[in-house]
Amino acid sequence: MEINLPAISQNIEAIKQRVPDKQFLAVVKCNAYSHGVVDVAKHIQDQVDWFAVASVDEGIELRRSNITKPILVFGIPTYETAAAYQTHNLTATVSHISHFSILMDGTDYHLNFDTGMGRLGFSPEQAKEVRQQAVLNQRLTCSGIYSHFATADDPGSDFVGVQHSRFMDIIKHFEEIPIKHICNTGASTNYDLEPFDMIRIGLGMLGYNPGLTRHNWLKPVLNWETKVGVVRPIKKGETVSYGARWTCPEDGYLATIPVGYGDGIPRSLSNKLKVAINGNLYPQVGSVTMDYIMVFLGDDKLSPETDVTLMGGDALNAADWAELVGTNIHEILTNLKGRFVRNYLKY
Ligand SMILES: *Cc1c(COP(=O)(O)O)cnc(C)c1O
Repeated sequence: MEINLPAISQNIEAIKQRVPDKQFLAVVKCNAYSHGVVDVAKHIQDQVDWFAVASVDEGIELRRSNITKPILVFGIPTYETAAAYQTHNLTATVSHISHFSILMDGTDYHLNFDTGMGRLGFSPEQAKEVRQQAVLNQRLTCSGIYSHFATADDPGSDFVGVQHSRFMDIIKHFEEIPIKHICNTGASTNYDLEPFDMIRIGLGMLGYNPGLTRHNWLKPVLNWETKVGVVRPIKKGETVSYGARWTCPEDGYLATIPVGYGDGIPRSLSNKLKVAINGNLYPQVGSVTMDYIMVFLGDDKLSPETDVTLMGGDALNAADWAELVGTNIHEILTNLKGRFVRNYLKY
């Protein structure tokens, strides 16, 4: 897996140009969507103002790798993790009244309000009560307030506007909080909204727009390559893989390639995936198996060890995979956690 670090920097700059003069929070949860959190974070540290992760453990990993920028943890504080926020200087998310008492003296936090995502956060009606708690808990430091969109991945959703105006009403109660933020990649690239003080970007810096809209000013940074394992002749009428769901239409050659769903190729891509070899696209045929996929080469008798591009480059990218599977790009990327080595292009 080859990850082009300068391309991440270019994507960040392209997004900053679209949303100028705002702080930039890089979302690097789930191992930076499988791109490798430590290498990515180190490369972009000077370009961004904040990082965000899902869990305290992910935050600790960044601190141990000498990441010194502020780190917001989106997750839920517990008695077990409370001390770690303080020891490792991680910013907590306070999304429930109980969190005020769980966190330890001196801990920095952002308030999270639920404006329509229905996942975490105070309800808008709680604004006054939350304000009272924030004022009472001077032992903690509130440095931000945020909310999260449910429908910003595709353009033209009225609900984005509804959530945005709910957030505007909420922050009227919290004017002295320095950093107000609500925009993820979709909101920043598909909408022209007031982004307040900071944008929170995960997918965009890796070169994808969420949803079905593609922006040519974002460049995918990940190429996944492997090599042909073996090439064997195959006869018309023979079937391939579990369930015998593909029947060979004509005599030719079949390549067996040593990657499968154990490495993050969704089984639901069976018979839909295409891979690139020598600049040509070839169809993956039959069910994707745990350790192998098979590719029909037609008349091309390729040699074992020939380079194969699975994702990126001449092949399909993660957005194409997501479309074929009927899922989002985030899920395709976070499932890439199999048996591969990451190589980082630094220049
Ligand atoms: C994951 C996440 C983001 C980043 O979303 P992208 O679509 O990858 O930009 C932003 N905010 C919150 C709260 C998230 O959980």
